[in-house]
Amino acid sequence: MKEEKKEKKLITSPMKAIRAFCVECCGGSAHEVSLCPAKECQLYEFRFGKNPYRSKREMSEEQKAAASERLRLAREKKNANQVDTD
Ligand code: SF4
Repeated sequence: MKEEKKEKKLITSPMKAIRAFCVECCGGSAHEVSLCPAKECQLYEFRFGKNPYRSKREMSEEQKAAASERLRLAREKKNANQVDTD
């Protein structure tokens, strides 16, 4: 029963894959990942699932509005496809 609850989550990005790898490397402990002493490891700087070399994207209000509209349309399209398959 417990094993059913511990089903592996779907990994959807390379950063999440690195994070999952590091957690597994540390015996399943996220805390141990934060204490990892292996600074020479190629994944060390990415062990928290974030890319430290990537700056946060700054968007103007117009860009935010355009992105919001694209997202709304994509959701509508996705929902319409789900209704068709049900
Ligand atoms: S950085 Fe390397 S050694 Fe440290 S937890 Fe991740 S994979 Fe393991």
